[in-house]
Amino acid sequence: MSYPWQANAWESIQRMHSSDRLHHALLFTGEDGCGNEGFVRELAESLLCNDPGPQGRACKQCRSCQVFAGKAHPDYLFVGLQEERQAILIEQIRELNHFLGLSRSYGRRKVAVIAPAERMNVNAANSLLKSLEEPTDGTHILLLTSHPASLLPTIRSRCQIVRLPLPAPSQALEWLQGHNSQHPPEKLLGIARGRPLAALELDSSDMLANCTLWFQHLSQLVQGKGNITDISAHWEKFDKNILLDWQFDCLLGIVKNETGHRPELAELQKGIQKTAIWQIHEKLLELKQLANHPLNPRLFVETMLMLWLVKS
Ligand SMILES: [Zn+2]
Repeated sequence: MSYPWQANAWESIQRMHSSDRLHHALLFTGEDGCGNEGFVRELAESLLCNDPGPQGRACKQCRSCQVFAGKAHPDYLFVGLQEERQAILIEQIRELNHFLGLSRSYGRRKVAVIAPAERMNVNAANSLLKSLEEPTDGTHILLLTSHPASLLPTIRSRCQIVRLPLPAPSQALEWLQGHNSQHPPEKLLGIARGRPLAALELDSSDMLANCTLWFQHLSQLVQGKGNITDISAHWEKFDKNILLDWQFDCLLGIVKNETGHRPELAELQKGIQKTAIWQIHEKLLELKQLANHPLNPRLFVETMLMLWLVKS
């Protein structure tokens, strides 16, 4: 499903589509947690639909829409991360290339989605190039990424890029208010940097409590009270990317002086020097490059915590 803040992107794609200018390879970029997967999925469904309605939306009734809803559409292929894998592999892209070459079963098109596209390893990305350069008639490849800079330039240059936006703050708030969250929507959106679906996920899981605890632990350390080995052991099994994202958001909040609704951050803010903020930010960015590599998890967390103890 697509969301209200994606309406302009949807319209511009439909304009291209109706005037036959829709590129066969589209690269959608935008932040995670904004419903971008839903947008791409809905577009795929509408491209396959035999009788699209107003604004090019899928009719949800034709044979194609029915099998799509049943997750069994023979002209649709989703390529993503397989269980326990950190990368999209060349075998998966070979399967995609083969799929695009097969004749169509239902309608006028075949559609393949690759997400998260930046996780294609180099071999997989190179294998995709031929399908991007020499498209089969009636096929579309939709790539989705929140890290376009991590894609090979040769992939980016062969796609039409469509930017999916963050919602306006009022739009995000309105959407979240419609979902009756347990926690105040403003607080959830503050932690999720205005990304509505990420905010809703925070509300429904124990993520909010974890996030608060992480910064309480960090505050203790910065104030010389906590034990770094114990704290690292507590967090070693936690998703490293999530921990990193929390810290980037936290630094941004401190820089903008927007920690009012989060006492645990205000506490941390007191313990660090303003001049150290960008140094911490830079080091966290370096760690981000390593977050998907199989490093010793406890050491990774310990290194991350140590960054906050710099004195400058
Ligand atoms: Zn349909």
